Amino acid sequence: MVKITREHVTYALSALDEPAAVVEPGECVEFETYDCYQGKLLKEGSTFADVDRRFGNPATGPVYIKGAQPGDLLKIEIKKLELGPVGILDIGPTSGALREFFEEPVIRRLPVKDGYLLYNDSIRVPIKPMIGVIGTAPLGEPVSTKAPKDHGGNMDCTRIEEGAVLYLPVFVEGGLLSTGDFHAIMGEGEVANCGVEIEGKATLKIDVVKNTGITYPVLENREQWMTIAYGEDLDEASEKAVKQMFAFLCGQKKLSKVDAGMLIDMAGDLIVCQIVNPYKTVRLEVPKWLIARIKEENESK
Ligand code: CA
Ligand code: CA
Repeated sequence: MVKITREHVTYALSALDEPAAVVEPGECVEFETYDCYQGKLLKEGSTFADVDRRFGNPATGPVYIKGAQPGDLLKIEIKKLELGPVGILDIGPTSGALREFFEEPVIRRLPVKDGYLLYNDSIRVPIKPMIGVIGTAPLGEPVSTKAPKDHGGNMDCTRIEEGAVLYLPVFVEGGLLSTGDFHAIMGEGEVANCGVEIEGKATLKIDVVKNTGITYPVLENREQWMTIAYGEDLDEASEKAVKQMFAFLCGQKKLSKVDAGMLIDMAGDLIVCQIVNPYKTVRLEVPKWLIARIKEENESK
């Protein structure tokens, strides 16, 4: 298996980036990643003075996938997500909805062991490992790994977890996939400041789906299809996520406009991914069983 060490660090996803590796479609790649502070807060006693914020939220990559052309999708199966031994949780005056209540940043280093986060001596929280940043290279100007856009990036979606399949649009030849910013656990919306920020390793099987016409991130797990959309605010992101799901249901799943709209009415769940990044992200989740039932009915007519 191809392994990308975290020396291949990047702070912006860019068409101009030199690939860390070139792989065949269908290959598995292991990405080794830093936490969002590049490990600078792991040492006991370290503070934000030790973190160079210009280089925040590093990702590892990019990987060039042979045959991936603009207009295609990368199909990324998250085969395995492994976490480091310690996560960072912090809260403070500079970001998140609670910033006015804190005068100084507070940093906690929390061990992760046997599937639990050890909040203190007596409280253990079951972990839900997820990938915060995963993206292809966008067209035009490089996009900071702090921002989400249609190429993916800092989406902070809790459903980007082991077992899920993420589809990302290819904008430049080879796709140029990078990932990083894992969380041991994060509340939906990432509202207070951050997730439990942690280094790790992701094993991704990366394939190419030709000419789908999809230009935004789509996510799949056993039960659901999801669209992930970004916007200046939640209103913009929300409307986009709904329209993208509608287009996906009509275009890819061949539902009529009425069925697609009514399915979203009945069973589409809009969930805030995060409100702390340069653009906000939301996702719309729809159940696979209902798509399948509607299709089945239509085909039997
Ligand atoms: Ca993030
Ligand atoms: Ca993060």
